[in-house]
Amino acid sequence: MDKPETKARIDPVMLGPDSRFNFKCHKEIKCFTRCCRDINIILTPYDIIQLKNRLQLSSEQFLALYTEPQILEKTDLPMVTMKFLEEEGSTTDTKACPFVRKEGCLVYTDRPTTCRYYPLGVANLSHKEDAEGDAVYFLVHEPHCLGFEEDTPWTVEQWREDQGVDLRDRINAEWTDLLVRKRSFPPNIKLTEQSKKMFFLVSYNIDKFKQFVFESSFLKRYEVDAATVEKIRNDEIALLQFGLKWLKGLLFKKEGVQGKTSP
Ligand code: SF4
Ligand code: SF4
Repeated sequence: MDKPETKARIDPVMLGPDSRFNFKCHKEIKCFTRCCRDINIILTPYDIIQLKNRLQLSSEQFLALYTEPQILEKTDLPMVTMKFLEEEGSTTDTKACPFVRKEGCLVYTDRPTTCRYYPLGVANLSHKEDAEGDAVYFLVHEPHCLGFEEDTPWTVEQWREDQGVDLRDRINAEWTDLLVRKRSFPPNIKLTEQSKKMFFLVSYNIDKFKQFVFESSFLKRYEVDAATVEKIRNDEIALLQFGLKWLKGLLFKKEGVQGKTSP
């Protein structure tokens, strides 16, 4: 028997918020959960916070158990993807998401942003200062995905809202901006290993970053007002956003959290 075609076809038509497409994914469809195999899922900072809390793990435990380190193309920045595993009893060499089951996704309400966007992809992700993002979208046609044969109409904006990616994109906006800025640097401008370590810490290991802020001399070295200290002590999303602002200062020497001047 021929091996089924597995290569995704990226529709060359760029889509905007009002562009339309037909799609429906549901439990009765023949291809149900096929898309949770042999794909690359880049995890965003918010994805990791949601998933590690869902699984009641520390961010470090989540990283060790469920992710693989990678380097993001054209940025030289570290990133993490979901670690896919060989399926028990499978006779093929496909690898599956650790959360996929016959009945569907075990972590559905906390599934990553990439899973939510599908079948949309996002191109030229960038977020302008003080403005809504100017991402461009496209359709990813996996040969096995039958959702396109259904007749439920969407606009891109309706799909994003329905899947909860608008919220996630807002929370990850500073992070996306960091990636886009770094990608726009000439390749000969390199970040130090220490800067990359800090990028990893803030982006993916929020529990360790919290320790770094509250259990080192950090708060003596940076000007952080009392209300912010209180907020970031109790709210991981606020801590993430604070950390990303601080990183911006560290990596790009601007707009970040200010260091204290010597008396
Ligand atoms: S392959 Fe497409 S239609 Fe099938 S389960 Fe995945 S997203 Fe839904
Ligand atoms: S997280 Fe859920 S939706 Fe995403 S690939 Fe895994 S099983 Fe599928």
